[in-house]
Amino acid sequence: MAFELPPLPYDYSALEPHIDTQTMQIHHDKHHAAYVTNLNKALESAPDAAGKSIDAILADLNAVPDNVRQAVINNGGGHYNHTLFWEIMGPKGGGEPKGDLAKAIEANFGNYEGLREKMNNAGLTRFGSGWAWLVLDKDGKLQVLSTANQDCPVSTGQKPLVGIDVWEHAYYLKYQNRRGDYLSAWWNVINWDAVAARYAKLK
Ligand code: MN
Repeated sequence: MAFELPPLPYDYSALEPHIDTQTMQIHHDKHHAAYVTNLNKALESAPDAAGKSIDAILADLNAVPDNVRQAVINNGGGHYNHTLFWEIMGPKGGGEPKGDLAKAIEANFGNYEGLREKMNNAGLTRFGSGWAWLVLDKDGKLQVLSTANQDCPVSTGQKPLVGIDVWEHAYYLKYQNRRGDYLSAWWNVINWDAVAARYAKLK
């Protein structure tokens, strides 16, 4: 079955004033929709992928035919990354992590501030388009990294907990060239309950 664009789990205006309504509309309805359309198009040439989850496809890119592999990396990654992005943001976002997740963050980064600085730095220093990530690595340890384009950490054996989109389309209407301002503001919309649920499921 073809992949479908998941509905945004809240209103386009729900993340105001940190992320503006028009950016959310274009980002979800145009950018994410295009990744889904182009992923489905690419998979027409990859019959073995039919019925696989997007996680399973991205975790085993060698199984994707050569002629469509890059299209699947770009558009399959785009679909996975944005689905995660909508999930881990929310209208009552911000604050600090709690429970087991908070303990793991403290153990790895000193405190929540340490994590935030590290992720903002990963996003700021990503040249061009890409993502800043908090992932669980193969040993179950938390790690901060960034990827280019729509490259997804699932393809390198890591499990994403938080992904921050640093493509210009994610922030340019409101923040123009000020990626750092966008990154600082972004932490006001993080949905820590959703991140904690991913951590509990994936660790
Ligand atoms: Mn995006």
